[in-house]
Amino acid sequence: MPGKPLLEFTDKGIYCARGDFYIDPWKPVDDAVITHAHADHAYFGHKNYLAHHLSREVMLHRLGDINLRTIEYGETVNKHGVQISLHPAGHVIGSAQIRVEYKGEVWVVSGDYKTEDDGISTPFEPVKCHHFISECTFGMPVYTWKPQSTIFADVNNWWQSNLQNGFATVIVGYSLGKAQRILQNLDLNIGKVYTHGVIENTNEALRRNGIMLNPTERITFDSSKEEVRKGIILAPPSSVGTPWMRKFAPYSFGYCSGWMSIRGAKRRRAADRGIVLSDHADWNGLISAIDATGCESVYLTHGYTASFSRYLNEIGFDAHEVHTLYGGEEDAPSQPPPEGEDAPSKSPPEGETSLVSRSVNASPSGGGWVGAGI
Ligand SMILES: [Zn+2]
Ligand SMILES: [Zn+2]
Repeated sequence: MPGKPLLEFTDKGIYCARGDFYIDPWKPVDDAVITHAHADHAYFGHKNYLAHHLSREVMLHRLGDINLRTIEYGETVNKHGVQISLHPAGHVIGSAQIRVEYKGEVWVVSGDYKTEDDGISTPFEPVKCHHFISECTFGMPVYTWKPQSTIFADVNNWWQSNLQNGFATVIVGYSLGKAQRILQNLDLNIGKVYTHGVIENTNEALRRNGIMLNPTERITFDSSKEEVRKGIILAPPSSVGTPWMRKFAPYSFGYCSGWMSIRGAKRRRAADRGIVLSDHADWNGLISAIDATGCESVYLTHGYTASFSRYLNEIGFDAHEVHTLYGGEEDAPSQPPPEGEDAPSKSPPEGETSLVSRSVNASPSGGGWVGAGI
């Protein structure tokens, strides 16, 4: 296929014609490589899926009976002479950048990523490439994250003071990634962690995958309200303002999201406390990650693509905006809010609502990706 770039942007997703596969496609295809299990990247309806081992149980939980092959970071799959490998993206447990190589030409698709080590996701590793396809969800200088240790010192103090003042504590974060990051950083000397069913189902999937999470207790009809109020309640965005949450009143409610750094976001979500905690790279993280690839060109898939590509071009990169459907996941708006505005108040889908029941018979060896070397 002379003249054709190794990866191209189509109406189904990022496509490699030479190897005949897609990366995070949003329409049904035969062979899909998936960066991570969030709803805007892992769609239902593909014939064969390839993803990281640590995405396995969550993908089966979310997508049901799919034909899934999983591999390790750094392991290579060959399809029609194209080398495909996964590399840590540091976004959530199991998230991967996808490296694609053919005859010495290397492309990397970042998926979603963050550069800070959160202690639970395999830390981000820059991968050298000629062409880097990057997200830029928080690609504005106003987005600069505090170190995780500082953020959680504040969270644990807030929890402690709620207890002293007779308030229950509700902390909200999306169910895959954010919830486990919160769980692993709470000070369990203060009390127990009680979970909403949506989060506990994800925790159970991750535990089946061998991830060691801190102990949690699922909130059920039988849970003692008084006991739960002594601990901390870990809940998904979809539970905000529901009777389920109101039954723990009086409570103080904290919402964890990168969007909380924008004025107004806290008020719009009616949170008592906006906790600026994101699983995406901040402004500096994006620039350092892009720089570390040594790439010739950058393609920006979602986030502040227009202003960020303009900036990258100014500092000497060959940057382009591309159109994709990424960015509709859990707590991110599908389009970045206009400057000075905050994120939409509407909670995007949790990714749990359209689920089919968990499959018990997904192929362990993985259909179409088995013969990929031929
Ligand atoms: Zn994501
Ligand atoms: Zn995403």
